[in-house]
Amino acid sequence: MAAPGDRSGPPIEGLKAAVDKMAAWIGQADGEMLGDALIQIREAGIDPLEAVFATGVRRFDKSGEYKADGALSLTAWLRWKCKLSGGAAMERVEIARQLEKLPQTEAAFASGEVGYQHVAVLARAAEHVGAAAVRKEEGKLLQAAQTMDPGQFVTVAKNFEHRVDAAGALAEANHAYQRRYFHIGEPVDGLVRVDGLLDAEGGATLRTALQPFMKPIPNDDRSYGQRSVDALMELCRQGGSGSRRDGAGPRPQLIIRASLDTLAGTKGAPAGELDGGGTVPAETVQRYACDSAISRITGQGELEHELNHASRTLPASTRRALEARDRHCVFPGCTRPLTWCDGHHLVWWTRGGATALPNLALLCRPHHRMVHEEGWILQRTKEGHWKAKPPLHRVPANARSA
Ligand SMILES: [Zn+2]
Ligand SMILES: [Zn+2]
Repeated sequence: MAAPGDRSGPPIEGLKAAVDKMAAWIGQADGEMLGDALIQIREAGIDPLEAVFATGVRRFDKSGEYKADGALSLTAWLRWKCKLSGGAAMERVEIARQLEKLPQTEAAFASGEVGYQHVAVLARAAEHVGAAAVRKEEGKLLQAAQTMDPGQFVTVAKNFEHRVDAAGALAEANHAYQRRYFHIGEPVDGLVRVDGLLDAEGGATLRTALQPFMKPIPNDDRSYGQRSVDALMELCRQGGSGSRRDGAGPRPQLIIRASLDTLAGTKGAPAGELDGGGTVPAETVQRYACDSAISRITGQGELEHELNHASRTLPASTRRALEARDRHCVFPGCTRPLTWCDGHHLVWWTRGGATALPNLALLCRPHHRMVHEEGWILQRTKEGHWKAKPPLHRVPANARSA
């Protein structure tokens, strides 16, 4: 709706023309000029426009005009009409309400000196400790905002909140802590969904613990998310006990129920059943059967009997000899350390391969998986070199739906 006395609509034509001009220009620009243009688009375009948007939202909030469209709240209206997510809409309402009480911030926002996300941090601080407290240090806070990215600025704002309202900051931290949870779903289609919220300390602890396991391996085509989950699995498997991999220490073991046919890889055999719920294909059972330190397989006794009492348990002395010989994952190009490795049977134990040094190799988990589940072939030459041959038929990821 137009302002009283002004029957013309908002000056959208000028705005559109400027956007078109910029679009044409940016299509041609390169190098340093392109970088400068990106900065200008935010400082002279997006951020000042967000400041104008905030002013409009505040007036719209006070007028209650959004109710005319049937929306129950301004946030709901912004989600609906301005195509914003709930969080983004709420943030804009909060900024609009707080900016009125933070004149210096409003001016810095309008001139592009601070960005939208800086302003969001300040608005949240004002919401927590009151705009009056923020106003007392507004100049200093804005100065800090101009020299750091929004992520760093959050730390400054949190420190400020703590200084002016330690009890409030503690209450907020305690409230956040109460919301912590971690949920592990039931397996569906071979996947288990996990989700959760960690308090800041828990998040930092997890991140720090995962860090040593996050390093990419050579020719790593895993995504960041995939490397993260692999790192989490490494962390869980190593169990933090610091014990050696000879099975002597209290290491977390996976318990798999498998039939003799599954272990032997007989066609038509049932899947392996995980003690914690869910099933795994025979190839996975066979991989776990490779190293007794990582699994206990019920049903194994029968097979051991069948294989003339050939135990799959790696005696500590054999494990030590294996570690001394291989030193790390033997897959060509891989150097992942001992603690990440399983003892792999070159002639699979489930096919009668002996648990003896000449038939053993250290393989890290991703490579051990590639050998059993993806069909890579690992060989040791007479000279003691390792060769890996890619699978003849790759198991396509969508084989089941074909
Ligand atoms: Zn193996
Ligand atoms: Zn490896």
